[in-house]
Amino acid sequence: MPDPYLPALEDFELSEDEATAIQSALASDDPWGWISENQHENDALKSAKAKILGFHLSRHGGNCCYCRVNLNGAGPYMTDREHILPKGKPVYKPLSYTMWNLAAACKRCNMQFKRSGDAFVVDPDDPSLFQDSANYRFIHPNFDAYGEHLVRFQAQVDTKDIVIFSKASGSAKATYTYDFFALHELQVDSFDRGQGRQIENLETDLAARVRELAKQFGQGPRSRL
Ligand SMILES: [Zn+2]
Repeated sequence: MPDPYLPALEDFELSEDEATAIQSALASDDPWGWISENQHENDALKSAKAKILGFHLSRHGGNCCYCRVNLNGAGPYMTDREHILPKGKPVYKPLSYTMWNLAAACKRCNMQFKRSGDAFVVDPDDPSLFQDSANYRFIHPNFDAYGEHLVRFQAQVDTKDIVIFSKASGSAKATYTYDFFALHELQVDSFDRGQGRQIENLETDLAARVRELAKQFGQGPRSRL
């Protein structure tokens, strides 16, 4: 299946030192949390992890891979390196540094909803299915094109904003993702609270346009599927 995002996963590159440090980490009991006694190796691992995060963030335009909140400038306290198949389960440990199993997510999605479970995996016991989009109930951050299933419509003017998630009709992954990450909690529409300001008509027009676009996406045919 072609990679739905850019830069493509196959173009990810590590330095020799970074790759060696990852091999050492993978040989340990706790590959992601492993700390080397060698400072140089630790630095290389740290640098590899930073590269992984930056690469995945850019694949999703700087947004969380699950809820699409923008993480640019949000800093390290908002952004998590996300292991899609959780690194805590023995069968998934060898995938701790595998690029297709990594992504960048916001703390809310990762800590509150994704956590360490794997209920979103259809068959968690057959490693030959781990790279199959159909084996994931939600929109996979690397195997599925998010925008073909779910779109976050958002506009902000000064202190007013509107956020609407629109699901492509017939997409089971859209529904699962929306429910799993409780995306309804993120929907807001504060544009109707008029404050008698000069730009109020423009604000109302913009909000109406966003609502209309979200509705159109939800009703339209699913493209390329
Ligand atoms: Zn999120």
